[in-house]
Amino acid sequence: MTRRISILGATGSVGLATLDLIGRAEPGQYKIVALTAKTNAAELAKQAIRFEAECVAIADPAAAKALHGALKDYPAIEIGVGEAAVCEMAARDADWVMAAIVGAAGLKPTLAALRQGRSLAFANKECLVCAGALFMDEAARCGTTLLPVDSEHNAVFQVFDPAQRETIRSITLTASGGPFREASREVMAKASRADALAHPTWEMGAKITIDSATMMNKGLEVIEACWLFDLPPDQVDVVVHPQSIIHGLVEYADGSLLAQLGSPDMRTPIASALAWPNRMTAPVERLRLTDIGRLDFQPPDLTRFPAIRLAREAIDAGGIAPAVLNAANEIAVEAFLADRIRFLDIAAGVEDVLERSISDADMPQALTAFEDVFAIDARARQMARDLMVERQTNP
Ligand code: NDP
Repeated sequence: MTRRISILGATGSVGLATLDLIGRAEPGQYKIVALTAKTNAAELAKQAIRFEAECVAIADPAAAKALHGALKDYPAIEIGVGEAAVCEMAARDADWVMAAIVGAAGLKPTLAALRQGRSLAFANKECLVCAGALFMDEAARCGTTLLPVDSEHNAVFQVFDPAQRETIRSITLTASGGPFREASREVMAKASRADALAHPTWEMGAKITIDSATMMNKGLEVIEACWLFDLPPDQVDVVVHPQSIIHGLVEYADGSLLAQLGSPDMRTPIASALAWPNRMTAPVERLRLTDIGRLDFQPPDLTRFPAIRLAREAIDAGGIAPAVLNAANEIAVEAFLADRIRFLDIAAGVEDVLERSISDADMPQALTAFEDVFAIDARARQMARDLMVERQTNP
């Protein structure tokens, strides 16, 4: 039976990897419903033509002309422009939707897809960081199956037996440690954009690559894991594992530690989510343990990587704190990528915003509905922008 598939964030790293798998399938196995992007009209149009998509949506109105031009000979492909169009096409009837927009900007379209009540392959961790309880409640209310795609969460999902939930002691997310795993604070203080983007094991979009360098990515993943697996933060461990071969582990009461191993290639977790509850072939390098030889593990260094501590403090505090953390981090990463602040300013700026948000008169202090999330996100972004300007002018 043909499965109807939509991909939100189709032009990004996860979106491209998803289409790579779909492009290798037998004809008729999948039907592409909607593909969405923010600005990359050329790539979106190319994908829509190749996969005969029913519709495409581009969030940035400035890219509309280019998209219309590139698809002018393909009238069967419906075109939507703007954030509302992305949400509307995300809600089109599909059996499986990949949520791979980066950042909190993905929350509205991901919610629109989730509300269809089918299978949501979930890469956009920022959604769960800023709206965890609301998002999980909405998924339960709509009967949606959430399939974790983040490699660590997908790994845990594969070895987490819900029938044995009472006997699960902890889960562990591994971290490569990023490009600064062994760097001193002095080296990190001078790190350039190019240094921070040079990830040792994974090829990913710019935002998550910087998050990996600060290790905020692992902090966001701890929060994501708490919601996805309904565990308290002290049952979610982080271990630095430079080879990125073991992605996640589940510890059971009998002493068994079950792990998922694989080459660091996102097509494995995506294939696992695409074929779930079955398996499919993925064109990834086979893992040969004797070639790898050894696997190393070390605890994360919370002094050099304060972002993990900040994320843990945010989930412990609850309420608005994770949403503030996420928004401030997105603005700080953006400022670093634009060479406006230094590398160590990212986590320091996030900490400042978190502290100031507690007494900020314009910051909503309750989070009980999605509207609150959007208001908190907007205010935290504004605070972070103001602060980045201060940091920029006082380097
Ligand atoms: P990329 O930056 O490579 O791609 C992001 C995608 O989202 C692009 O298609 C982009 O469009 C689109 N997009 C960006 N902003 C908006 C917006 N405001 N409205 C609509 N669409 C938007 O990101 P990644 O693929 O690396 O990451 C996507 C998500 O998956 C992130 O949440 C990340 O944390 C998570 N993830 C990624 C992994 C990876 O290996 N890359 C691994 C695990 C999780 P355009 O191209 O036009 O800008």
